[in-house]
Amino acid sequence: MKEIVILSGKGGVGKSSIAASLGVILARKYTVVLADTDVDAPNLNLVLGAKLRNSEEIAASSKACIDYDKCIGCMMCKDVCKFSSICGADKPVIIPYSCEGCGACSLICPEKAIEIHDVVNGQLNIFDTVNMLLVTGELHIGGSSSGHIVDIVKKRARLEATNSHAEILLTDGPPGIGCPVIASLKGADYVILVTEPTPAALNDLKRVVEVVKHFKIPLGITLNRSDIHLESQRAIRQFADENGYFILSEIPYDNSMPMAVANAQPVISAYPSAPGSLALQTLAEVLSEKITEQV
Ligand code: SF4
Ligand code: SF4
Repeated sequence: MKEIVILSGKGGVGKSSIAASLGVILARKYTVVLADTDVDAPNLNLVLGAKLRNSEEIAASSKACIDYDKCIGCMMCKDVCKFSSICGADKPVIIPYSCEGCGACSLICPEKAIEIHDVVNGQLNIFDTVNMLLVTGELHIGGSSSGHIVDIVKKRARLEATNSHAEILLTDGPPGIGCPVIASLKGADYVILVTEPTPAALNDLKRVVEVVKHFKIPLGITLNRSDIHLESQRAIRQFADENGYFILSEIPYDNSMPMAVANAQPVISAYPSAPGSLALQTLAEVLSEKITEQV
């Protein structure tokens, strides 16, 4: 099985729309499982019009909990907390939103009055689409440890892929360059970086390239809305050329793509002969060649 991760240093460049259509196209040739690890804002199920099969709570975060029957009010726990997550003057009060569950307060407490408990901070959902299984994760509002949730979602998606003898696990990763992105890269054989021709997107592309390079994972670039700014288009081509990165496809601006999103359908299903869909077909073909090269 090949694991492909789709990332974009910058949000809003069309990563999930591309992931949805790419999954649909690849699933015509391969057995594919999709994972949505953008746990702060998962929406691949909406883009695909997927049906929920199963939902489970995830306890991927830890918080301190005080037993006030044992507490003597020495406030040593407040002094040791580096996250300023304990307030109060005579008796400590944990601020759950900022507590990282590091356990320092528990270690220092002379009365053993503090325990670290796992808490539910997210949801793991399994959806059915027309030709694929979709595993998604969702961080609860105000929750922490999103990287841990990504890890849980990827493990579950890998298990589902193994059980269904899938040939491809395609992951729609989170935006940015932080901990959730790094968690989504674990086990990846190939990374598709989606960008668009703007100075901000190029800047964020360079940052996410550094992350992927660090883990020595082969990567290719997809330039979405490639013709909206020709100077930036040239700049991205030049960046790819000078650094030896392959541009997998250039998807022209196509009004069919936002219209398909508005109708909760991948563009390849809603408008199969639109320019955006044809470019996505090319992307899938080039990707298939890359996968075959690596076998
Ligand atoms: S360190 Fe322990 S005993 Fe002291 S205030 Fe904190 S919880 Fe109470
Ligand atoms: S577990 Fe860590 S972050 Fe949470 S209150 Fe204790 S010291 Fe602070």
